[in-house]
Amino acid sequence: METTLRGVGVSHGVAIGEVRHMGTAVLEPPAKQIPAEEAEREQGRARQAVDAVAADLMARGNLAGGEAQAVLEAQAMMAQDPELMSDVDRRIAVGSTAERAVYDAFAAYRELLAAAGEYLAGRVADLDDVRNRIVARLLGVPMPGVPDSDEPYVLVARDLAPADTALLDPTLVLGFVTEEGGPTSHSAILARALGVPAVVALPGAGELAEGTVIAVDGSTGDIFVNPSAEKKAALEAAAAERKAALSASTGPGATADGHKMPLLANVGGPADVPAALEAGAEGVGLFRTEFLFLDDSKSAPSEEKQVEAYRQVLEAFPEGRVVVRVLDAGADKPLDFLTPSDEPNPALGVRGLRTLLDHPEVLRTQLTALAKAAEGLPVHLEVMAPMVADRADAKAFADACREAGLRAKFGAMVEIPSAALRARSVLQEVEFLSLGTNDLAQYTFAADRQVGAVSRLQDPWQPALLDLVALSAEAANAEGKSCGVCGEAASDPLLACVLTGLGVTSLSMGAASIPYVRAMLAKYTLAQCERAALAARAADSADEARVAAQAVLSGE
Ligand code: PEP
Ligand code: MG
Repeated sequence: METTLRGVGVSHGVAIGEVRHMGTAVLEPPAKQIPAEEAEREQGRARQAVDAVAADLMARGNLAGGEAQAVLEAQAMMAQDPELMSDVDRRIAVGSTAERAVYDAFAAYRELLAAAGEYLAGRVADLDDVRNRIVARLLGVPMPGVPDSDEPYVLVARDLAPADTALLDPTLVLGFVTEEGGPTSHSAILARALGVPAVVALPGAGELAEGTVIAVDGSTGDIFVNPSAEKKAALEAAAAERKAALSASTGPGATADGHKMPLLANVGGPADVPAALEAGAEGVGLFRTEFLFLDDSKSAPSEEKQVEAYRQVLEAFPEGRVVVRVLDAGADKPLDFLTPSDEPNPALGVRGLRTLLDHPEVLRTQLTALAKAAEGLPVHLEVMAPMVADRADAKAFADACREAGLRAKFGAMVEIPSAALRARSVLQEVEFLSLGTNDLAQYTFAADRQVGAVSRLQDPWQPALLDLVALSAEAANAEGKSCGVCGEAASDPLLACVLTGLGVTSLSMGAASIPYVRAMLAKYTLAQCERAALAARAADSADEARVAAQAVLSGE
């Protein structure tokens, strides 16, 4: 029977497919004793699970080929290691359950491996993965991590961290549904980057049964469980119609009366460049460099590796503008080697620029790598710091850029209300501002962007947030400098018109949103956008602001 659920739509489009859950970390199985007569049956269960996991790893290796095949085959061999298996048998013979025996035998082997020199210690993560797979199979719970599937699916998760999503095969993910997260969470950002529909903050998402067919409408936030054939056809037709209307819009961003509004792309690295180019991005307004740092949680990528990644992005926009954000570690983007592990409230702790000022060598390497990457290229490189609180922060960042010999514009992200309130003072040190409305909303409303229950307050239509945008844009205008928006607010087509009316000078968003924003902006004049902005700021809630802006633009 068809049922409908409602979450928060954060990435346009319709996805129809089977549910696959993101497996959670395997819990430690309880250490309960079994009677001696059950030992043989438990040993059989353990062997069966081990064989099945090994066979699955081999099969996936065959499919993957190359280096991945070698890693997966080595993992299959680990699973079937005869000594490990006899340890499992022995533990079951003295009263362990199969899952507990596997868990403990692998723990003992893990210690040996960890102590056996650098190369073998590096295999510990592979061993843990094998153990988790066998234990998950014995417990009958989903495999940990990204679903193992050869068929496209709709990914359902509690929330998605950048490290999880790095492992996703984008060709298999039709869409996302998460229980937690708001419009600015990483699940939402990633979905837009991949151009797949997504709904977040859906209570009970975890209870959708594996394999159930659902239709996700990322524009309305509706989830249709077991949709009828008519519903599927209607949704697909509506999505195709919208897509066709969009492909008609091309060229640089501008209002109907020709007021230019550069439309830039948010990227996480070279892999996102093709989609940005295809969407007609006029440059990059936010290069989130932390994705380069996620491969290895123990150290920063080398200068050479960074130069290569930066150069690939810079070369893609020969005459365009590329705004690179230096590493934004901490809070929702923790990095083991930089982020303190004992902060009571990481979002209010040492994160963003604060982390870099505590680790000047990491900042220096990054800035030097950027300087080298831009050498000889005609690109307009701009570099900005996340989480700038005041003029002293802005100065510290600009000094570091100058010391690294960087020939670029230096800017500050406005993500903390203090920076918006004192934007003119911050602008004494830097040449541009970029509004990170995701964090700006988080800090203005004291509403954690990762918590679904407070997503109402993460709504970028909140008039208080619009006031801070207006303050920053006015300050930049008075100083003759630019002030863009690179938070998710820019990807909402109606809000993009309001932001234009508030005086911002560029809009940067996930590539998939660019055609929607371009098409909407082209319908209205700057004066209409300004009136819509005034109406939105005069409202008392996000919903009222949205309705008021819509009413002005549709001439009601
Ligand atoms: C923001 O906070 O709005 C922003 C663009 O940065 P991030 O989402 O990466 O924190
Ligand atoms: Mg931010």
